[in-house]
Amino acid sequence: MEADGEQVIGFKDIIGQDEAVNRLRSAIRLGRLPHALLFGGPVGVGRRTLAGALAGAVLCPNSASDESIDACGRCEDCRLLESGSHPDLHMIYKELAAHHPEATVRSSVMQELGVPIIRHFLISAAMQSPTRGKGKVFVVQEAELMSDVAQNALLKTLEEPPPGVIIILLCQRPEELLPTTLSRCSMIRLGPLPRNLVAQRLVQAGADEPQSRFWADFTMGSLGESLRLAGKDLYQTKMEIVHRLASMGRAGEGGLADDLAKTMEKLAKQEVKDVKDRDGGDLSAKLASRKSLAVMLRLIACAYQDAMRLKGQPEGQDVELVNSDQAQDIAAIAAKFTQRDLADIIEQLSEYERLLWRNVSPKLVWDNVVITCASAAPLVL
Ligand SMILES: [Zn+2]
Repeated sequence: MEADGEQVIGFKDIIGQDEAVNRLRSAIRLGRLPHALLFGGPVGVGRRTLAGALAGAVLCPNSASDESIDACGRCEDCRLLESGSHPDLHMIYKELAAHHPEATVRSSVMQELGVPIIRHFLISAAMQSPTRGKGKVFVVQEAELMSDVAQNALLKTLEEPPPGVIIILLCQRPEELLPTTLSRCSMIRLGPLPRNLVAQRLVQAGADEPQSRFWADFTMGSLGESLRLAGKDLYQTKMEIVHRLASMGRAGEGGLADDLAKTMEKLAKQEVKDVKDRDGGDLSAKLASRKSLAVMLRLIACAYQDAMRLKGQPEGQDVELVNSDQAQDIAAIAAKFTQRDLADIIEQLSEYERLLWRNVSPKLVWDNVVITCASAAPLVL
């Protein structure tokens, strides 16, 4: 379902981010492209695609001659970019630790972008001349995972990189970076995409209309996230869960917690496999479980948020529900609770995610989720 990987990504392939694209194009045209850039914004709105387009514009020798500034798509550099093996495009991410020359780094837990990764794969690599002549591009994924030490080590390179080197930091929450790092980068913010556009792209990718609309709203306009979730066959599961939540009484529903736990395990297994296929990385079963739990809790919470919206709607006015595909179920949930109850449920659902880090068994978490959702009863763990 992913659009990339087929051909060299160009600025023309980026949808809904005209301001960012125009800024970069005119900077290149004027020969004023900053050497340190920060692309900030939510996951799945095109930061990585934009970095790819910029890398193409910088590394393809025929790009600047064209008004679009895009890579030509025909030369040897473009062929290498296409196959993901251009020697002057360096992707920096935490899993690179597994390829570090020092065994101690290789065996370390990859929770952050530590100084060994930044020193070896970015700072030292930037000092070496480009392999093919035109320049070098470094793309740091999840830049907010850089430790303070790593950021401090990088400052000088960010401020004054070797000639021809462009460093792009991709970041969800730029405010989590050190101010000294921020001050050395030109920030380009990418906003959420119009939801109609996201839904339209999902339909083009093969999802049906109600599902496309749901994911576009649920992810608040993140195309990447929507494609990812739609690709997991999660929609049917969501429909079923919301329906069962709507139908159960105050005592809960026998079997629901077990089914939720099973669904989580299934999703976690799929996630481990997806990460392996996509990045060649190893995702721990525990982290995969936590990610799956988080998505499921968000889906459940979303139904209760919808119920709250419905309860709060002014007389005679229509309210936009994320679960507009299950309006009856949402109405049933709204009918069972007061607004105060609904607020309590939503708050508690957000608490449950943390429990998995405290080695609480997933089954126990799901038992409690069901109790909370059935009766708005407080956390008993
Ligand atoms: Zn080219």
